[in-house]
Amino acid sequence: MARSTEPEGHPEWPDDMDVDELLGQGWRPTPFREFILKIHSRCNLACDYCYMYEMADQGWRSQPRRMARATIDRVAARIAEHARAHGRDRVEIVLHGGEPLLVGPDHLRHVAESLRKACEPDVRATLRMQTNGVLIDDHYLDLFEEFGIRVGVSIDGAPQDHDRHRVRANGRGTHAEVRAGIERLNTRGGHLLAGLLTTVDLDADPVTTYEHLLTYAPPGVDFLLPHGNWDEPPPGWSPTEPHYGAWMATVFDRWYGALERETNIRMFNEIIRLVLGGRSRAESIGLSPAALVVVETDGSIEQVDSLKSAFEGAARTPLHTFTHPFDDALYLPSVAARQIGARALSDTCAACPLAKVCGGGFYPHRYRSGSGFANPSVYCADLDHLITHIHRTVAADVARLRKGH
Ligand code: SF4
Repeated sequence: MARSTEPEGHPEWPDDMDVDELLGQGWRPTPFREFILKIHSRCNLACDYCYMYEMADQGWRSQPRRMARATIDRVAARIAEHARAHGRDRVEIVLHGGEPLLVGPDHLRHVAESLRKACEPDVRATLRMQTNGVLIDDHYLDLFEEFGIRVGVSIDGAPQDHDRHRVRANGRGTHAEVRAGIERLNTRGGHLLAGLLTTVDLDADPVTTYEHLLTYAPPGVDFLLPHGNWDEPPPGWSPTEPHYGAWMATVFDRWYGALERETNIRMFNEIIRLVLGGRSRAESIGLSPAALVVVETDGSIEQVDSLKSAFEGAARTPLHTFTHPFDDALYLPSVAARQIGARALSDTCAACPLAKVCGGGFYPHRYRSGSGFANPSVYCADLDHLITHIHRTVAADVARLRKGH
């Protein structure tokens, strides 16, 4: 199998990561399961924390606005090729941006048809979209239904909290537009709404935020910790005081204490699974290999988007879908580093009693200039607090069950 080296000018990537040596030790890469396609590179909002437009990497400026039809067809063929080469009968494809609905309905139809055509009949392509929600209209709803596209919407909670960050370029808040978009999705019976994506804001009340999100009856909520690292810590962060961990623990108590399960919260589901001895299914927690890859608007192959919050070019690879199969990306040292679990941990994390659950946290959050990603997460104190809190709560429940009450 041909292996590519990292592009020059990335001194922060693990230069001691010898993929040949790993292979010699019996390590084998995990094929990609999830493909994130940046079908439009621009956005109609100007959220103040956006990793694409407000942080270190400004590479989007050189990308075409929209993924060309020929590029889409090529990417679709590459995805199908990768799935078949690894005997996978199912792949997840997330249509992303920028704002993916800026492509227009005709173009979106081409995207969906091309992906389906390349994959069928032996590979099932599950299509999802992540959108800010403001452009959802009847044309799009028809397309979502026709192609079974499930839609995740980004919303940060109640109007006053959402509108602090998720704004138009003129500073106007977008909560009313997003709410209308989600409500339009739900007019088709609720099956189109895949879930809500919410960035944690310490200035928002955690229970108010959670209860506001519940008003949309989402099947799931994904709380994201704001992007940050040791060079640029997230807002309100402290190295010793777990402000984010405490915020999340408050949401956990409200969620876990409900008489009936009101929605799924991915971070909590994963931590519970891990403390009970299972394996994580998310890249942001635990030691499971990262099995997702990103395709930029021009067809180039990239790593997980949020690495862009670390340094210019952090997500870039030297590979392009016109010239390389996805298999080549599996052998890049920077991709291998996100697949080898405990072997990629810093010494501090390797010695940490929570490592099996925490996994050093989300890879981009470990970055510090000079030592790259060989560090604990900048959210170390928060993860410690939240995991310990959930562990204690679940352990007390298990003990009660054992006693028969
Ligand atoms: S980030 Fe912190 S809590 Fe997580 S494994 Fe590393 S040392 Fe432990």
